[in-house]
Amino acid sequence: MKIPVVRNILEVNDRIANEHRELFQKNNLLVLNLMSSPGAGKTSLLENTIGHLKEKMRIGVIEGDIQTSVDAERILGAGAAAVQINTDGACHLDANMIKAALPGINMEETDLLFIENVGNLVCPAEFDLGEDYKVMILSVTEGDDKPEKYPLMFHEASVLLVNKIDLLPYVSCDMSRIREAVLKINPHIKIFEISCQTKEGLDNWFQWISGCVKK
Ligand code: MG
Ligand code: ZN
Repeated sequence: MKIPVVRNILEVNDRIANEHRELFQKNNLLVLNLMSSPGAGKTSLLENTIGHLKEKMRIGVIEGDIQTSVDAERILGAGAAAVQINTDGACHLDANMIKAALPGINMEETDLLFIENVGNLVCPAEFDLGEDYKVMILSVTEGDDKPEKYPLMFHEASVLLVNKIDLLPYVSCDMSRIREAVLKINPHIKIFEISCQTKEGLDNWFQWISGCVKK
């Protein structure tokens, strides 16, 4: 009887996630759950975003990693508050892990909270953390077949950032194939083409965030 067990896990998760959502709303906190495969550029995107927006808004980051605090140190270096979660082998964050990290975030003094999920294109999409939006990063080096192979990710995300577009001349990745496949899975998704290296396209992303913050 495996199916009821899985359902119970997700029910418990969703109950905790709803408690987070209430708490976030009470504090007018915008919460973005950042998901991608390993190496797509989540932490680089956060460094760029913090660097650009930290004068306008107070930013916090919950860093999810299987091991190490390397990414949290990069976030601190960029000038935002960071709390590290080590999942001890687990390949995604769940609402209970966020609950353990939240005391490290001063919600009243924060406008924007990023949750950097564990690098993985599969189960992070299944776990509600109480966020306002799931944001997904896909790197052009991963190829243009990922939307067809991992549709749930693209279905759950409100924003897709296609990163490393400066490498497009060197890889076989057809941007129109990505757009077509993604929009078929999720017609409402916003797609931004960016490069954290050359900073191309990042202004559209910063503008989107500025339009979403609540205080
Ligand atoms: Mg990272
Ligand atoms: Zn997992």
